[in-house]
Amino acid sequence: MVLLGLIGCSPLAADHVMAWVRDDDGSYHIGVRALPELYDPVHMAGDLGTIRHGGRILTEKDGSGSYTGGIGMTVHATTDRIDGVDVAVPLDEDGLLLYSFYANLAAVRAAVEAHGVDVEPVFPMAGAWNPAVSPLFELAPADNAAYATGANVFMLLPDGGDRDVPLLANEGVIFHEFGHAVFHLLTSGSPESPPLVNDAASEAFYWQSSLHEGFADTLATLLLDDPAFIDVSIALPERHVDDDHAVADSDMLPATRADSGALLDDPYPLGTVYASFAWDLRVASDADTALGVVLDAVRSWSPAEAKDVDGAAYLAALLQSADAAGLGDAACASNAARFAVLAVPCP
Ligand SMILES: [Zn+2]
Repeated sequence: MVLLGLIGCSPLAADHVMAWVRDDDGSYHIGVRALPELYDPVHMAGDLGTIRHGGRILTEKDGSGSYTGGIGMTVHATTDRIDGVDVAVPLDEDGLLLYSFYANLAAVRAAVEAHGVDVEPVFPMAGAWNPAVSPLFELAPADNAAYATGANVFMLLPDGGDRDVPLLANEGVIFHEFGHAVFHLLTSGSPESPPLVNDAASEAFYWQSSLHEGFADTLATLLLDDPAFIDVSIALPERHVDDDHAVADSDMLPATRADSGALLDDPYPLGTVYASFAWDLRVASDADTALGVVLDAVRSWSPAEAKDVDGAAYLAALLQSADAAGLGDAACASNAARFAVLAVPCP
């Protein structure tokens, strides 16, 4: 056993880490995960990017962003030989969360690449452990993880709740956040581009925020094949994608939200309808097929400018893509049950 945490001057020689592990039934335990991407587990540096401590995430009015001022991390860890492999073992809770996050990020990168999406432009990405954030973020306090579009940085916060599975350890939470990076990349062209819509008073802005959440939940639920991945951390039945969510309540529609003048918008209810549509396709086929349909739709939708960010146009692309994959009947039934208000015809 070699103790390096207090010295912190050379990497632990280990290509495995002790971290939270998701089991096939969706439960979690703490165990050994292969993580060769994290080549320096003491300083949280690896192929996916480096996590730094503190600093500031600033987001500008034009949607651009930056992360500055973080300092290098030193994770208190040791190496153990377990079942024939060298394992970096964190010696405090923060290290366990950070290793779990990094392993989850490696898992979602591999899973998304397996679906033919080139996410290389996103890497290496920055991670910020417990940073200061701009007032825009401060309005929506969180104790988990968030991806800052435009800045291409993952904001990581210590777990505030007494949860069975901390949010950073929950694969679905990190898959969801990475979904924001993928949706931003596919619709904006590069991780550093500002989002297409930055005019917070426009309907397109509210569509954008809901379609983002819908895609993020689609990616997490389909890659894990779990319609309720969040529940091991927080019970959120209103986000389960195997329920009968529909665009029936005008409060969730962008026109109403743009007019409300509310300081805090809730993009999730409308996003959950889109994620539930994708789950309907999974029920009619399988998770890989359903995700392929959604990825094809995002690519073909490809809004060129802010005014084109519109949920009806996106739904039309989804219906077209489902039809091309032989899922036209299921998609059309889901369209009628969930999106009747938008009156988008089936192809
Ligand atoms: Zn989200």
